[in-house]
Amino acid sequence: MPIHQLPHQLINQIAAGEVVDRPASVLKELLENSLDSGAKQINIDVEQGGIRRIRIGDDGCGIPRSELALALSRHATSKIGSLDDLDRIATLGFRGEALPSIASVSRLSLISRCPGDDTGWRIKANGSETFNDPEPSSHPEGTSVDVRDLFYNVPARRKFLRTERTEFGHLQTLLHRIALSRFDIGMELRHNQRLITHLRPASDREGKERRVAEICGKAFVEQSVYLQQAARGLRLWGWIGQPSFSRSQTDLQNFYVNGRLVRDKVVTHAVRQSYQDVMFHGRHPAYVLFLELNPELVDVNVHPKKHEVRFRDSRIVHDFLYHTLHQVIADVRPGDAVRTHASDQKGTVDLPMAIDSASVQTRDSNALRTPPQLEVAEHMQAYGLLNQAADDLVSAQATNRSPHTDLPPLGYALAQLHGVYVLAQNQHGLIVVDMHAAHERIVYERLKTAFEQGTISSQPLLVPASVTVSRKEADAAVSHRIEFEALGFEVDRITPDKLLIRCVPVLLREADVQALLRDVLADLMAHGSSGRIREAMHGVLATMACHGSVRANRRLTVEEMNSLLRDMENTQRSGQCNHGRPTWTQLSMSELDKLFLRGR
Ligand code: ADP
Ligand code: MG
Repeated sequence: MPIHQLPHQLINQIAAGEVVDRPASVLKELLENSLDSGAKQINIDVEQGGIRRIRIGDDGCGIPRSELALALSRHATSKIGSLDDLDRIATLGFRGEALPSIASVSRLSLISRCPGDDTGWRIKANGSETFNDPEPSSHPEGTSVDVRDLFYNVPARRKFLRTERTEFGHLQTLLHRIALSRFDIGMELRHNQRLITHLRPASDREGKERRVAEICGKAFVEQSVYLQQAARGLRLWGWIGQPSFSRSQTDLQNFYVNGRLVRDKVVTHAVRQSYQDVMFHGRHPAYVLFLELNPELVDVNVHPKKHEVRFRDSRIVHDFLYHTLHQVIADVRPGDAVRTHASDQKGTVDLPMAIDSASVQTRDSNALRTPPQLEVAEHMQAYGLLNQAADDLVSAQATNRSPHTDLPPLGYALAQLHGVYVLAQNQHGLIVVDMHAAHERIVYERLKTAFEQGTISSQPLLVPASVTVSRKEADAAVSHRIEFEALGFEVDRITPDKLLIRCVPVLLREADVQALLRDVLADLMAHGSSGRIREAMHGVLATMACHGSVRANRRLTVEEMNSLLRDMENTQRSGQCNHGRPTWTQLSMSELDKLFLRGR
């Protein structure tokens, strides 16, 4: 075949291959156009999953009659005019490709009326670049685009379409994601004439949360933290799910850069990192987050579908996201969560302007207070439940019936259940704590802080303990002497296969020091002598924390239980153990009442 110029329609169909692969991608382009037009209300009508028809109407600025043909022509746009404009794009579209691409693979018509005009004008795409004159057509101010019979002329693409239900599912997800980026715009979606989604415009936080709840579920809003943070020209706001609200999929991850939904490696990595060691392995966090920055600092012209971006300085963006989110997650404490559960208010974290100061958020450490009252323990005893534990308690406490206004968030201990759980009473009802998991987190956080400050304090053993190991292990112990010291150990090699432990970290003095040493040694060896060892230190500290925390079946006194509760309130990330499992839960009085069919 000799070289020849391709016909317009074929050029557009080739371009369509990049941006239009299913009804949802058609809707994405049309929605973005409506958003760019300044619309306040957007209505979408879909038939047969969008395969048969997608009609979208907006009340935006409209397209003048004289420009209608251009709107359907390739590389025609009102959004940029020069290369400079490409550096600071404030609209969602700018490539001038969507309408001609869609028109080349469907039957498309466009009606638009500009403010001030007395009628709307309608134009039909016909596959060429020459158009019939627009015809008058009644239409309110704004634009409607009607796309029928998607891929009627591209059988190869048509074959890839799924069932009506699946395609509609994709459409709906797409609408939801875009709806989260523009709370100020009302949106409606109908499928086969049935109203499916109706979203009111929202300007205040309450209205926005209503929309988030409608789209991401009520549970997400209830178990998320609202945040706002700005530094160095970057602003981040939105909702992040508490670690306990993790998902098996990444389906509830919505990240917007200057209002544009993106999937970006830098972002995903920073967010993942901030949930490090509070997220159960294989689980995924949920979030709706908005990053705003000077458009000149982000390149959106990276991908035809425009869902990837490139940051001019991805390091700064990564660090800003990580520091902000890490801190917010670390500050989720029992008190916040109880407040969230109890009164339907979300914890708000309004961090200070500078990144560095985000890390200072102190709470007065609660000294041990005497529990004001113990009704529940008495009840339990009366019903013959938990006799042993309740006995301990009743004898330990005074009964005082003053209202429990002053209770700390996790309340006061009532009993220990089967040597595993601590039961406590707080303002809202019953608290159940997994004592090993909770203690493990506390020890871990203390070790991390001390390690970072180089102040893990060490204590000599009264009787140094000897441990028999392999030669290889003994070699490793010698070569990791510095790391051992930083961790609070003093270990000598006394024979080729024998080590002598002279000092251990104070926090771990109660632990089985031989087993502890073996595990730490194994961890250190697993990471070799490379520079990665410092990065791996959190893992080593987690191993140590596990050894140092109370074992199941140890009887705790009421004082010990209460001090565990107070420590939890004052420890970062205390809602999860080091493996991301929850450390405590609350059963409110109304939940208990429900269990017993007791009306209030
Ligand atoms: P782009 O959005 O990249 O500019 P499109 O092919 O999507 O390219 O649209 C071409 C032009 O048509 C836009 O630049 C805009 O001027 C106009 N347009 C498209 N849809 C609308 C709409 N809903 N309201 C107003 N103008 C629109
Ligand atoms: Mg567009």
